[in-house]
Amino acid sequence: MLSRTLVLKVAEMPAFKNWIKRSRLTQGLIKRFIAGEDVETALQITRQLNQEGFLVALDYLGEDTQRVEDAEQAANQYIALLEHIDRNGVKACISIKLTQLGLDLGMDVARRNLARVLDSACRLNNFVWIDMESSKHTQQILDLFCEMFPDYPNSGTVLQSYLYRTPDDLERLLQLGARVRLVKGAYAEPRNVAYPDKRSVDRQFKIQMERLLERGKEPAIATHDTRLIAHAKRYAAKLGLEKSQYEFQLLYGISRELQKQLVAEGYRTLIYVPYGEQWYPYFSRRLAERPANLYFILRNLFRK
Ligand SMILES: Cc1cc2nc3c(=O)[nH]c(=O)nc-3n(C[C@H](O)[C@H](O)[C@H](O)COP(=O)(O)OP(=O)(O)OC[C@H]3O[C@@H](n4cnc5c(N)ncnc54)[C@H](O)[C@@H]3O)c2cc1C
Repeated sequence: MLSRTLVLKVAEMPAFKNWIKRSRLTQGLIKRFIAGEDVETALQITRQLNQEGFLVALDYLGEDTQRVEDAEQAANQYIALLEHIDRNGVKACISIKLTQLGLDLGMDVARRNLARVLDSACRLNNFVWIDMESSKHTQQILDLFCEMFPDYPNSGTVLQSYLYRTPDDLERLLQLGARVRLVKGAYAEPRNVAYPDKRSVDRQFKIQMERLLERGKEPAIATHDTRLIAHAKRYAAKLGLEKSQYEFQLLYGISRELQKQLVAEGYRTLIYVPYGEQWYPYFSRRLAERPANLYFILRNLFRK
């Protein structure tokens, strides 16, 4: 079985990257995961998802920004997006990455840009999720989030069940009273920081999910894993939670039947919708999660 690290390494190879971006054969798969390159298409998809009963989180794709001007520009794009959401009356919040807002250029750059985005979200009565990135950023992301949260309670962040540190981080966020989205984790991490095997990651997800359902504020359970979703439903019912008191979150284009089924059963369900020109790193993480996606691509690559 191909490891996540290997797939992400292959995905970084310039020849592979160029082929993926240019080939007609990969466009279908890209379209499945990415809602388009412009905001109009993303809003159109959001409207459609709203009509089907879903909430939406819009991610204007981008990460690892290396210039201060680009980080400011990314914040501007998010502010414009919040205004578009407001003007168009769609039900959508936003999900952002702090490295896109300049975290690698210093905490001050990220803090300044994040504050501008959070101010706009406050003014427009919207909500901001702060995505979790690779483990070299975890501490800074959580520190900045915890620093800003008291002034901006319209924000929440993400914890990854594969990290050994997550039980402590969850306690910190539960005590703060912030919304938490629990995910398994999508980055290639070394064995000394993250569980290397799926069974442990799933077991940790279940444990942290139970804690989150017991004590969290509007917990967000972000997975396509049907066994964990079934457990969440049972556990939440046992705790006496209404279906509106917690949220399932799934990625655009993944497990579409499951998405529809959750809405049909009356569960609050949010679809994470990524769009923008900088889609490649997000797309390569989707490949790495599921080798079948990569096999599909490689089959087409060698057919030519
Ligand atoms: C709303 C949302 C937000 C997220 N935000 C973050 C974040 O901020 N930081 C972060 O590190 N990770 C994030 N993730 C990704 C997450 O960490 C996992 O990598 C991803 O959700 C796949 O794991 P899974 O829980 O679905 O379980 P898995 O056990 O990987 O998958 C369960 C089933 O889902 C389906 N599936 C999963 N992935 C794919 C795929 N790529 N293609 C096709 N089918 C698939 C398959 O049927 C699979 O059997 C987010 C995920 C969601 C749903």
